[in-house]
Amino acid sequence: MKYFGAHVSASGGVENAPANAHAIGATAFALFTKNQRQWVAAPLRAEQIAAFRKACDELGYAPAQILPHDSYLINLGHPEREALEKSRTAFLDEMRRCEQLGLDRLNFHPGSHLQKIAEEESLDRIAESINLALDRTHGVTAVIENTAGQGSNLGFRFEHLAYLIDRVEDKSRVGVCIDTCHAFAAGYDLRTAEACDATFAELERVVGFRYLRGMHLNDAMKPLDSRVDRHTPLGDGQIGIECFRYIARDKRFDGIPLILETPDEARWSEEIARLKAFAGEA
Ligand SMILES: [Zn+2]
Ligand SMILES: [Zn+2]
Repeated sequence: MKYFGAHVSASGGVENAPANAHAIGATAFALFTKNQRQWVAAPLRAEQIAAFRKACDELGYAPAQILPHDSYLINLGHPEREALEKSRTAFLDEMRRCEQLGLDRLNFHPGSHLQKIAEEESLDRIAESINLALDRTHGVTAVIENTAGQGSNLGFRFEHLAYLIDRVEDKSRVGVCIDTCHAFAAGYDLRTAEACDATFAELERVVGFRYLRGMHLNDAMKPLDSRVDRHTPLGDGQIGIECFRYIARDKRFDGIPLILETPDEARWSEEIARLKAFAGEA
């Protein structure tokens, strides 16, 4: 079974996200559990948590169909001690919010070295940040997203993801989310079925599909290896539609949230319908 959805709005409260997903025919969704541009948010209220869980039950969204995303402000590989602590505190809060909502995974961008420390030193900090959060939470998997490698963002090589997993103590609660636009921008070709075969064989070899906990399905505005993160609707970019047909038909992507972060929300229901048709689930 394939679960297709989009990163939907949780404006007015997390409890509104499931209905927003349902309205576009989604069988999966992503959301922010707090305002992603603020460091601190009010704790989730008991009524909100209950309403979120009830809506998920009623609309048929199990934890394996939901991929919460953390705040963009967080940098778990920050070169400076104080800023690193601030990020670690915020990340722990995000993990706890997922725990409270009954969710089993949290998707995040690994972090950036900001040209102040070596890549490896920053990666070591990220791994330690993950370990610290896992020590203080239960049942939530830390899902590391590959990046486009824009600026000093780490995680653009599958080897970075493997390096982090290698240093996480509890392997049962670490995973990855592969964003197609980011992979393409980082130099992994996805334009043809053959290119997808090669790229995903490399993912299997370097990381392993057993760690795959979600995908972000985005076409890319910029060419292969541009290191620029600009999403487009599926089929409108440099990757093209074949990649998304490939993923929809490949069993290795079953049972995990496959999430659109494409820029035109008005087209989400049509993009989801197309993906379902590719998968034979229309
Ligand atoms: Zn993404
Ligand atoms: Zn992106």
